[in-house]
Amino acid sequence: MFNVENIRKDFPILSRKVNGKPLVYFDNAATSQTPKQVIDVIVDYYSNYNANIHRGVHALSQEATDKYEEARKKIQTHFNAKFAHEIIFTSGTTHGINLVANGFSTILKKGDDIIVSALEHHSNIVPWQMLCERSGATLKVIPMNLEGELVMGEYDKLLSKNTKLVFVNHISNALGTINPIEYIIEKAHEVGAAVLVDGAQACPHLKPDVQALDVDFYVASAHKMCGPTGEGMLYGKESWLNKLPPYQGGGEMIAEVTFEKTTYAELPHKFEAGTPNICGGIAFGAAIDYMNAIGFDEIAKYESELLEYATKKLLDIEDLKIYGTSKHKTSVISFNLEGIHPYDVGAILDKLGIAVRTGHHCAQPIMDYFKIPGTVRASFAFYNTKTEIDTLVEGVKKAKMMLA
Ligand SMILES: *Cc1c(COP(=O)(O)O)cnc(C)c1O
Repeated sequence: MFNVENIRKDFPILSRKVNGKPLVYFDNAATSQTPKQVIDVIVDYYSNYNANIHRGVHALSQEATDKYEEARKKIQTHFNAKFAHEIIFTSGTTHGINLVANGFSTILKKGDDIIVSALEHHSNIVPWQMLCERSGATLKVIPMNLEGELVMGEYDKLLSKNTKLVFVNHISNALGTINPIEYIIEKAHEVGAAVLVDGAQACPHLKPDVQALDVDFYVASAHKMCGPTGEGMLYGKESWLNKLPPYQGGGEMIAEVTFEKTTYAELPHKFEAGTPNICGGIAFGAAIDYMNAIGFDEIAKYESELLEYATKKLLDIEDLKIYGTSKHKTSVISFNLEGIHPYDVGAILDKLGIAVRTGHHCAQPIMDYFKIPGTVRASFAFYNTKTEIDTLVEGVKKAKMMLA
């Protein structure tokens, strides 16, 4: 049974105070908090079996290697990848995207198109612009509408035999919109294009099945799903990962090195040069265990209750506008008070112990579309409560009184 009060006891940070007030943490879309089950795994690693992996014959190295590879299998099972070697450990979503973009620079040529969406995070725009500069390919953008949804009719028109790669986030970090990636993938495959989905914002809320989606690449960050920072994963279909060249050279990623020629290691090591974040990978596995023990169906159900409750309460405040009103969205609310800068609202909320994000949320094109400098963004996780939402609503009312 889902019991939020019991769940909250797993998160030590949730009982601290900020500015003398109990912390209300509503910045989950930027990073999630860490339960003691994951913290314990990190402490255990450094206390008991810290060692470099894959090359040692000694016991600690073997133990660390086993745990690290066990974590890869957990991630494989969670995302339903066909093979464990289709899971590449990365330092996060940004790293995964850059790895794929770099690989495609040897495949793309002038006259090819890359399609991205208007709802992208900067980390999903810049690597493609760099790739276009290097390869001579053209970047095309799927436009959005006032609800904050991608316009699929326009996407259909952008697709052609020149389309080589389509790039879209599963869920928008700025607005919370859940994008129709099933449709996007199917249509891209009809013209022979590959699809990379940025799942950073989706994985805290749902459990993607990469085989059912038939997606070519899928990336995520551990720190948005109860795991540590600086850790993440890239899923790639085996055939694609074999086709792409390595991203970085170094230890771990080679089969044989001479000064004449180096041959690369098999997957996944080909893409894992150097000593990885060993503890981070193991803790990522523990975070996935933790979330699965609660259950993604339970999480989704509870978070949609929070979203509905908060949306209704906030809209009761006069002159408050919510950006991103799709029926298909997760527990993210981006809003502004008319005539008041989002930063000022955020600063007052902080004084009250409420952590929200203000600004463009690494998604400036979306802000340009709405002709606003930014928004206040409150993003909820399964460990938040309706009482905390009441505190937010009172805080926003107070900010409005002080600033209007
Ligand atoms: C957070 C986020 C990223 C970047 O993730 P990092 O962990 O900083 O690499 C990319 N895309 C989306 C949609 C995000 O929410």
